[in-house]
Formats: sequence, structure tokens, C-alpha cells
Amino acid sequence: MQSNMMNFPLLPRHLLGHAAKLYGTVEIVSRLPDKSLHRETYRDLEARNRALAKALISAGLRPGDRVATLMWNHYAHLEAYFGIPASGGILHTLNLRLHPDDIAYISNHAEDRFLIVDDTLLDLYAAIRPHTHFERVFVVSLAGHPLPPGCESYEALLAEGAGKFTYPDLAETTAAAMCYTSGTTGRPKGVLYSHRSIVLHSLVSALPNALNLGQRDVLVPVVPMFHAISWGLPYTATLAGCKQVMPGPHLDPESLLDLYQQERVSVSAGVPTIWLGILERLEREPERWQLKPGMRMVVGGSAAPEGMIRGFDKFGLEVLHAWGMTETSPLGTVSQLKSYLSNLPADEAYALRAKQGLPVPLFEARAMGDSGEAPQDGKTLGELEVRGPWVAASYYRGERPESWSEDGWFRTGDVVTIDPEGYVKITDRTKDLIKSGGEWISSVDLENALMSHPAVAEAAVIALPDPKWQERPAAVVVLKRNHSASEDELREYLRPKFAKWWLPDVIYFATEIPRTSTGKFLKSRLRKIYAEQEKSRLNCPGTTP
Ligand code: AMP
Repeated sequence: MQSNMMNFPLLPRHLLGHAAKLYGTVEIVSRLPDKSLHRETYRDLEARNRALAKALISAGLRPGDRVATLMWNHYAHLEAYFGIPASGGILHTLNLRLHPDDIAYISNHAEDRFLIVDDTLLDLYAAIRPHTHFERVFVVSLAGHPLPPGCESYEALLAEGAGKFTYPDLAETTAAAMCYTSGTTGRPKGVLYSHRSIVLHSLVSALPNALNLGQRDVLVPVVPMFHAISWGLPYTATLAGCKQVMPGPHLDPESLLDLYQQERVSVSAGVPTIWLGILERLEREPERWQLKPGMRMVVGGSAAPEGMIRGFDKFGLEVLHAWGMTETSPLGTVSQLKSYLSNLPADEAYALRAKQGLPVPLFEARAMGDSGEAPQDGKTLGELEVRGPWVAASYYRGERPESWSEDGWFRTGDVVTIDPEGYVKITDRTKDLIKSGGEWISSVDLENALMSHPAVAEAAVIALPDPKWQERPAAVVVLKRNHSASEDELREYLRPKFAKWWLPDVIYFATEIPRTSTGKFLKSRLRKIYAEQEKSRLNCPGTTP
């Protein structure tokens, strides 16, 4: 029998409508390139959102068309987060840290029609422009740079959207936003979030057992808005109606700490590299900043080191360790102590908080070993598989269908244990990728490039632990007989093909690379050998490996 509940669609624009109606004067604060603060309210945001949606439709945007953004975290990006989906279009956030060739590839693959770019990134736009096909490009003036030829003003676009407007009816299952994620092999793949998945993800993210976000909070999302829809935080914060403070391009520890103090920030979110920098700054000048007591820091993207959790506790600041993926919207697990575990001895409690944590409601996790589901004993390893209403069921063009199990769970590529209390702990990853400061580096792409050098017979690229970036790439190279090449020469060879931060920090020369029985590079062994070598190299500066 059918229920008699209303069929009310779950749309992010309803979250904004609610915030504008009930918390209309609550501010969205954005730090501009000159460090001045731009302020608008939820009421302003709603009005500009309406104007943007209307103007995009007048500009010829059809339902399902992609509008790309190339922007830092600020008010205009937030407007795009709501206005593009509300118009029936799909927000496609481009990762400005990628090599221009990759950005262009991704934009073409997504068939983006329009672009909204902020004027601090016009040089990057100039680099991708010859290889992309945007019909119209709208520039947000933050730094006051002149409009490049062929571009239009974002404010002029909004002005075209003035006047009455009724939002188009949308089905909640249609796509609202899109992000690309790096592939182990091959090109990045697109993930399409629906209006419904965004709303459900926001509802659960805000729960006390998850990120615990309420109207009284003041949130700074440091995590870029071009990463996994900024962990859904702009939507979750709008659902809560809390003040949002956007850091713009200023992500150094001192700028962030000034902002936290000035705006009385209660919660912020970012990758460990950001937090390690902030902790180091606080330890150096413990009296300089007066942060809000009990401020929460959501740490994800890479593992939060236990020492960092302890370090922040000394300042009365709480680390909330979370795990997620682009494919999972991203929130999957959060490490919070259960009520009856809160009296654990300190060492055990910290060890638990350093785990990736408990799956949030509606999100299911299992560890799959070679012979089925691994027991939840905190010891047996398995690949983490997940499912839930905000987990992708396929990639944009159906790439890599093997990423889903036969019974429809998503294979994360993370190797985990799950303990009897349900806490997930990541121990390794099967993906051949390196995560440096929260950004992926493809070892396979670097290997292929190295192996195209005339002197290189074989090359394996591995992740080595790094105190600042969590991981950095190192290459192990076997040269062809009677050929020679120096480390510098190989790095110069890679330079034009990759973003600077992709280049291996160190290149080791070896006579052979250990392989598995199936002929693949045995990277676990390489990681072990070279992590040791790296340790001794760093301890004895001046020696060459
Ligand atoms: P992305 O799709 O770029 O968000 O990357 C998702 C991947 O980042 C996961 O599959 C993990 O490998 C890694 N990751 C995310 N959060 C954590 C965490 N808290 N601890 C360890 N690894 C993480």
C-alpha cells in the first residue's frame, strides 16, 4: 500500500530557502585576495542564487548542462554551489591544483558549456583556454583585474537575472554537482551527485554523532571547494544556518589562525597538512591567538596522526577524524568515542580517535578478504567496501565497472580492519596512488613518463612518508645497459609534463625492481626498503643513496 506522505523533493535549494527565511541575517564572510573581508547574508545569498539560476537559464543553459567553476573558497563559489543546481544545471568544480592539460581534459570530458572563474586564477584560465571549449566565461572580480577579451563579468550576469523568477521543478534524483577523482590507471573519472544525495548527506553530516554542526557554529571550510564538493560542508552549514567564513586564497597557518580568532570560529575542516602547520604555529607562539575554547577541527583526506590529536588537545582544541572519498560525497566514517568508551585509559582513547572511525547512519561498511567478509576482530585485513544513498553507483561514463562488487558495494581501494566496536582503521591502500597534502599523484603516470626516457629500462614510483605532506613520491629506476642518466636529468625530463609538486623528491637507481608472482612491481617491499634508506639519508645529510 502507498503511504500518504507528500512527495516533497530533496533539493539543496530548499536548504538555502530555509536558511534565508529563518537565519536571513547570518553572515557568509569571505576573505578577498587583499585580505579584506567581504560580507553577505543568507538573504543576500538566496537573492543572488535566484539571479544566477535565472540568468543561466536565460543564457541558454539546458537541464543537465555542466557549468564549471575555477575558484577558491568564497561567496561566489558558494553562489555557484546553489545557483547552478537550482537552474537545473550541474555544478562542475575544477581542481585548480592540477596540471593545465589535466584540467582541460576533465573539462572536455565533462563537456562543460560555461565557466565561472575568479580573477586571481586568470593565468591558469589562460593556460587551459586554448584546449577547452567554453561557450561563455564569467569572471568574478575579487582582485580587480581587467576582464580578458572574450570574457564577461559575473556581476553583469547576475544583473541579467534580476526580477521575478520561479525555480524550475526538478526531480531529486537528477544530477546537481560533479567532481572528478584521480584514477590509478588512466584518466580521472567523474562522480555525479544528485540533489537527493547532497541533502541526505547534509542531514547526516550535521548530526551530533557525525560532524555535529548547529546554527550557533561558525564554520571555516579550509578544504577546497573543488574537492569532493568541499566535503559537502557548504550544504551542511546552510542546512544548519550557521555562519560560514571562507578563507579565499589565504591558506597559510598564520592567515587561518588570524581568521579563526577574528571571526570566533567554532569548527573548521581540512587535510592533515593544514592542521600540522597550524599546530606547529600554535606551539611556537602559544599566547598569540585566542581561539574559541573547544573549537573542533575536522581532519580527513589522509590519516590524522595520533600525535597531532594529542597536540591539539593540549590547546583545548578537538580533532574530529573523518574518512571519506569523492565517490562517497564524501563522508563515510567519523571517529568519536562512544559514551561507554569515554573512560578508556588515555593511550587507548587516542588510538581509537586516530582510527578512521564509525560509519555514519545510512552508510554501511564491510571489509572483504579473499574468502568473503573479514571478521570484525580489529586484526583481519580486508578491502573496505561501502554502500549508502550518497555513494556513487557508477562513474560518469561507466568507466571501471569493476570498482563495484557483484552485489553492488563500492570497492574503496583502502585496506582496513574493523574492530568489534565497529571502528574502521585504514592500514594500507590497494590504489597505486600517492596522496601528498591532500592531493593525488598518479604513480602510474610518473612511471610511464619515466619509462619513456631513452635511458630508463624500468621505473617504479612509490609513496614515502613525509612529516609535512604525509606522503611524497620517490622513484626507483633501473637504467638500460650502457646508458646513463642523472637524477636531475630525469626530473627535468618529467618537469614539462607534470605539475611541480608531482615531481619525485628523490630518484633511486637500482639494478632490479622486485616483482610479485604475477609480474607486478612489489611496491610494499619497495616502500619498506626505501623508507629505511630515506630515513638514513635524512639523518646523514650529504650522503647520497
Ligand atoms: P578523495 O577521493 O580524493 O577524497 O580520496 C579518498 C581517499 O583518501 C580514501 O580512499 C583514502 O585512501 C584517503 N583518505 C581519506 N580520508 C582518510 C583518512 N581519514 N585516513 C586515511 N586515508 C584517508
